[in-house]
Amino acid sequence: MGNQSISIDALTEAYIQKEEQFGAHNYHPLPVVLNRGERVYVWDVNGKRFFDFLSGYSAVNQGHCHPKIVDVFVEQARTLTLTSRAFHSEKFVEYTEYITTLFGFDKVLPMNGGVEAVETAIKLARRWGYHVKQVPEGQAKVITAAENFHGRTLNVISFSTDPVAKQGFGPYMEGYLTIPYNDLEALKQAVKDPNVVAYLVEPIQGEAGVVVPDEGYLKSAAQICRDANVLFIADEIQTGLARTGKMLACDHEDVRPDILILGKALSGGTMPISAVLADDEIMLTIQPGEHGSTFGGSPLAAATAMAALQVLIEENLSEQADRLGNLFRDTIRSWNHPNITEVRGKGLLNAIVVNHSNQKAAEILCYELLQNGLLAKPTHGDKIRFAPPLVMTESELLEALDIIQKSFAVLD
Ligand code: PLP
Repeated sequence: MGNQSISIDALTEAYIQKEEQFGAHNYHPLPVVLNRGERVYVWDVNGKRFFDFLSGYSAVNQGHCHPKIVDVFVEQARTLTLTSRAFHSEKFVEYTEYITTLFGFDKVLPMNGGVEAVETAIKLARRWGYHVKQVPEGQAKVITAAENFHGRTLNVISFSTDPVAKQGFGPYMEGYLTIPYNDLEALKQAVKDPNVVAYLVEPIQGEAGVVVPDEGYLKSAAQICRDANVLFIADEIQTGLARTGKMLACDHEDVRPDILILGKALSGGTMPISAVLADDEIMLTIQPGEHGSTFGGSPLAAATAMAALQVLIEENLSEQADRLGNLFRDTIRSWNHPNITEVRGKGLLNAIVVNHSNQKAAEILCYELLQNGLLAKPTHGDKIRFAPPLVMTESELLEALDIIQKSFAVLD
């Protein structure tokens, strides 16, 4: 194994020490301090340029500081930022029509962070369960998949199977059933419980290490839910918005979820913008005052989200992700590298599973990638996620692949 230590310059070190002192320690960032971004690149405080292969956990699909999104954002910021939903706003009205037409749902409920949208979807499913499915009050259950990641509120960690996210934060919320991911038989059994109102699932499990289910899984799962009068909720916060080579990962199997959750790239990385989409039978079970958010659907968020969605369409970013994703996986497979067990993913949401006796191999590799000008983070021990902005060109991807190949030498 090569040199495992990483040399950190004095300026970077000073910033990191200050953050350690004044910032909570709820993340373990790579030792790099960034201060600028453009398209697929970010720069550190020393002016060194990096390929960004995390894209703000897929919030920056459109590339850093996309000029169209930034122009709309700044223009709207000068005009009207927040009205609250106590009043109508011109931009929110425009946005509701735009996003519901684009995704083909009756209604949208706007929120901010991703986890708030997940909470909203669960509230909607429970409400629908009580008002429409006639589940006895207080008895509704939602099925979730093992190894899920849907965010970090107390309710959402209640159905996490990751002890790091969950342990030591109890008591937990009731009303969840866990089944293995990618297991249709388990889903068939679980929906037999008459109090089950929904199955909440990621079309590809992102944080778990880009776990792609078998072909046909989503289609069959949605059908099993439909047959059992159970809502199929797709959390497309990470997989949606062109990331996997289609506008939605569900589109790969022509699945239309009953409730669709979007976040992250809905803002192009500018501010937290999330949304829940559903038809009237579900959405209208929530009445004024029963759910809401001060900032959700603000004119600033509405204008920015429309620009972010338009960029995905105008720049054909789904096709781009599909094409470059195939190139990425084919190239890495062609290396037949002894330290790579597997490369997997869809579009530009991919992960390499590192094969090495050293348990820290993925971390060491990420340090080496950093030294060589590419930012990526290990997820779940031996996996490294590679999710660059979708505006990457083919030659940029090939350059990045050279860096990745070269960096594997650190594991020799
Ligand atoms: N759902 C999925 C599938 C995610 O990947 C994430 C974040 O990574 C979330 C929900 C939570 O989003 P946020 O961090 O914006 O609350």
